[in-house]
Amino acid sequence: MTDDGRQLIDWHMHVWLPEHLGREWVADLSRNYGGDDSPMIEQAHFEDIEAGRAAAGVEKAIVIGNITRHLGVEVPNEFIAEYVERDPAHTVGLAGVDPNDADAADQLRYARETLGLRGLKLAPPYQAFHPHAPEALELYGLASDLGMPVMFHQGAVFARRGILEYANAALLDLVARDFPELKIIVAHMGQPWYFETVALMYKHRNVFADLSARFHRPWQLHNMLLAAMDYGVTDRILFGSDFPVTDTQFCLDAFRNINTLTEGKLPEIPAGLIEEIIYERPFSLVGLEV
Ligand SMILES: [Zn+2]
Repeated sequence: MTDDGRQLIDWHMHVWLPEHLGREWVADLSRNYGGDDSPMIEQAHFEDIEAGRAAAGVEKAIVIGNITRHLGVEVPNEFIAEYVERDPAHTVGLAGVDPNDADAADQLRYARETLGLRGLKLAPPYQAFHPHAPEALELYGLASDLGMPVMFHQGAVFARRGILEYANAALLDLVARDFPELKIIVAHMGQPWYFETVALMYKHRNVFADLSARFHRPWQLHNMLLAAMDYGVTDRILFGSDFPVTDTQFCLDAFRNINTLTEGKLPEIPAGLIEEIIYERPFSLVGLEV
């Protein structure tokens, strides 16, 4: 923690072992991000994330689970809990639950009450469920009752069999209307449909968005931030990396260099806003005290 109480929180990090991901996920991820022998597949062990956090000065982090039956992925919630247990004062775990599982509600309750995971991660276009599906609505209700924020991967997907019909952030309007107490985080700011994410944030104070995995697309990031400024929703924009897909220190550097892209010829992102997003987004925003 810095002297004035500000904290660098990475709101979006992953741990996994290669065997958790399944062949299809690994093939599609590698094809889209790193070529055939992308090192990232091997770089999400506990030691790797620890090194990434230390190198970037990350004080607290959210670590995210992933259970996606449609694509053969299962990063066990016990594995996430095991990582959190190493430093629970600085780490929050989000459970992966697939709403298509008949016992999804039981899994979420177990993740909260037995494993100590504090939030839920869902990914409709990867997990192949419509955000309005009855079984999904049931899960949101339970998460709300348990005080668990829900992070949604809404947006484009790298997996060929992912389902873009379920991917637009505007689909979460019904969720935010029906569950006004539920804290919703739209991962990757809903890319590429960030206007819909901003529109959602504009009408719902309980909706947040993280900038993870956007730092390698600086022009898109610049426009996302301008849109958020225009609609007055930057107070709910969160910094995140998507480690190990993108490295936290790289993200910080790219974020701080964003204005070099436009060289004063277009509206700039204020440096003060960038530092505020990096350091002044405490977990308490989504009801998590750590
Ligand atoms: Zn991610």
